[in-house]
Amino acid sequence: MNIEFSAEDELFRQEVQAFLAEKVTPEMRREAERTTTVFAEKDLAMRWQEILVEQGWAVPAWPVEHGGIDWSPNQKYIWGEECAKAHAPGLIPLGLRMLAPVLFKYGTPEQKAEYLPKILSGEHYWCQGYSEPGSGSDLSSLKTSAVKDGDDYIVNGSKIWTTHAHFADHIFCLVRTDSNVKPQAGISFLLIPMDLPGITVDPIITIADDHEVNAVFFDDVRVPQSNRVGPENEGWTVAKYLLEFERGGGGASAGIRESIASLKEIASREVDGLEPLIEDPGFAGAIAQLEIQNDALYYQELMTLDRLSKGESPGPGSSLAKNSSVEINQQINNLKVEAIQYYGLPNANKISLNGHSDEWVGPGYAETVMPRFINGRAASIFGGSKEVQKNIIAKAVLGL
Ligand SMILES: Cc1cc2nc3c(=O)[nH]c(=O)nc-3n(C[C@H](O)[C@H](O)[C@H](O)COP(=O)(O)OP(=O)(O)OC[C@H]3O[C@@H](n4cnc5c(N)ncnc54)[C@H](O)[C@@H]3O)c2cc1C
Repeated sequence: MNIEFSAEDELFRQEVQAFLAEKVTPEMRREAERTTTVFAEKDLAMRWQEILVEQGWAVPAWPVEHGGIDWSPNQKYIWGEECAKAHAPGLIPLGLRMLAPVLFKYGTPEQKAEYLPKILSGEHYWCQGYSEPGSGSDLSSLKTSAVKDGDDYIVNGSKIWTTHAHFADHIFCLVRTDSNVKPQAGISFLLIPMDLPGITVDPIITIADDHEVNAVFFDDVRVPQSNRVGPENEGWTVAKYLLEFERGGGGASAGIRESIASLKEIASREVDGLEPLIEDPGFAGAIAQLEIQNDALYYQELMTLDRLSKGESPGPGSSLAKNSSVEINQQINNLKVEAIQYYGLPNANKISLNGHSDEWVGPGYAETVMPRFINGRAASIFGGSKEVQKNIIAKAVLGL
C-alpha cells in the first residue's frame, strides 16, 4: 500500500488551504465550533453550501455533468482533511451525499432533472424517512404502507428519529407496498413533498435540550406513483445503496485530531491540585492513548483510500472506521467532561448571570462540552448501531 501523497496532491492541498483561509471567516469558524448537534445549524450549513457552489466544490463526488469534479480519491480525502483542520462548517448530507447518489443510479431522467439541481442550489431540503418505532436495526420490518389508488399511492404510518424533518420540504421514505412476501421484497422508495395534506411533524427534544430529530406521521397521504425511485417492491436494494453513502463518510481522523488539540488546551488550563491537568501522568496517558488510536484510524482510512484509488469498494473498512471514530470521539468527550468538572453540570449553560441573562458563565472552552458529550452518545446508534457494525465486521473481516 502506498501511503504517500504525491507532489501533485500536495500542490492541490495548498490550493485548498488558500481557499479555506479566505472563505472560512473567523465568525464562521466560531459558529462551526459552537455546533453541538450531529448536523451543523441549517443556516450556517446553507451559507457554506452557497460558497462552495460558487467555487464549484460543493459536490466533488457527483458526475461532472451534474456539477461534480473529477477529483481523485486522494484529492477528495485531502479536501475533507483540510476542511476539518480549518474548522469549516459541515454540509447537510441528506440531499447532497445520500439521496443524490441514489438518483444518479436509480432515478428516471425526469427525477434527475427535477431534483438534482434543487438539491445543489439548496432550494430543496431533504430528510430521511427510514426508521419507524420498532424498525431501526431491523429496518426491513417497517410497516408504513403505500397502497395503490389510480396513479397514486395512499401512504399511512409513521417515521421516527427523522433528523431535520422540521426544516425539510421533502422526505425520502421507505414504504411497504407488499405485505405478503418476505419483508425485504415488499418495500418501495418514495420521494414525498412535506407539504402534502395528511403529514404532521412532531418534535422530539433530546436530553441535550436540542430539537434535531422528529416523529413524522402520514395519514392518508396521496403521493403520485411517479415519485417512486426504482421498481415497485425493489426499494430495499435502493435503501441499502443509500446506506453505503451514509456510513462511508471517511476522513474522520483529521476532525478527531482537532478535538484532541482542544482537549489538550482545556487540560492545560484546568488545574488538578496545584498543577495543570495535562501534567497529571494519568490524564496525559489517557490523551496519548487516544492519539495512538486515532493514528490507527488514520492508517485505516489510508488503506481504504488505497482501495478506492484502485477502483475497489471501501469494503468493511468503513464499518471499522465508523466504530473507531465514534469510540475515540466519545472518549475525548468523557475526558473533557472530567476536565471541566462543575462546568459540566447538565444544563449549566442555562444558569443565569444575576438572574437577568442567559449568558454562559464559565470559560468559553467549557461551554459546548456537556451538550457534545450528550449528543455524542447518539453516534453509537445512528447510521447503523455499534453492535450492527460489529456484526458486519464479524462476518466480512473475521468470517464468522
Ligand atoms: C440522533 C439520531 C438521528 C437519527 N436520524 C435518523 C434519520 O434522519 N432518519 C432515520 O430514518 N433514522 C434516523 N435515526 C434512527 C437510527 O437509524 C436508529 O435509531 C438505528 O437504526 C437503531 O434503531 P432503533 O433506534 O430502533 O434501535 P434498535 O434497533 O431497537 O436497537 C436497540 C439496541 O439493540 C442493539 N441491536 C439491535 N439489533 C441487534 C443485532 N442484530 N445484534 C446486536 N445488537 C443489536 C442495537 O445496537 C442497540 O444497542 C436516528 C437516530 C438517532 C439517535
